[in-house]
Amino acid sequence: MPNNFSEARFSLLNLHQQLFDAGLVVWSGGNISQRVEGGFLIKPSGLMYPELTQDSMVYCDLDGNVLDGEFAPSSDTAAHAYVYKNMSEVGGVVHTHSNYACAFAAVKKPIPCVLTAIADEFGGEIPVGPFAEIGDDSIGRGVVQTLAGHRSKAVLMAQHGVFAIGQDAKSALKAAVMCEDAAKSSFLAIQLANTLGMRFARPKKLPRGVIDRLFNRYQNVYGQGPKPLT
Ligand SMILES: [Zn+2]
Repeated sequence: MPNNFSEARFSLLNLHQQLFDAGLVVWSGGNISQRVEGGFLIKPSGLMYPELTQDSMVYCDLDGNVLDGEFAPSSDTAAHAYVYKNMSEVGGVVHTHSNYACAFAAVKKPIPCVLTAIADEFGGEIPVGPFAEIGDDSIGRGVVQTLAGHRSKAVLMAQHGVFAIGQDAKSALKAAVMCEDAAKSSFLAIQLANTLGMRFARPKKLPRGVIDRLFNRYQNVYGQGPKPLT
């Protein structure tokens, strides 16, 4: 094979380890994929996280067909393929059933933009996508319909879980981690207000202008900036 994507395989293996260590997945659930030339690499179906290796990552085309791999690909492969095929800017996709985000997905409520960190990362609430059953590309269609043109890089698929996207698999993983963090803090704030009987102190959404300023600053200014050429 002319290119077995060894660098991408190594990176994808490490990101799966980070996904597991972050506590966003249990058993063999959840998956990450990374776009590569001619398609994408994705976690094999049903393998436990400690069993994953670089070579176990399955190479698929943009229709979800396996091009190379010892194992069957993730059962969510069709959804990943649909996203790559229809969102050319996406280079990585992460899927989880992380608990707090799933709680919002179960009741079909978006995660409200009540904290600056949510404005920074998502530029507003984290939206809910349609309910879709596994088996064809309907999950992928729901993800694309919800996230195309949206600032949020994560969607809560109704009564299912999180799909997060990014320019590569690492940034998609960041969105999945931040989504769970946002869900947890929002859930605790709502619970705290209820516990204290603060009927009029429920977490309030940040004003649109504040969200816009925070989002633009975080997306464009935050961090170390471009590294000087050496
Ligand atoms: Zn799922």
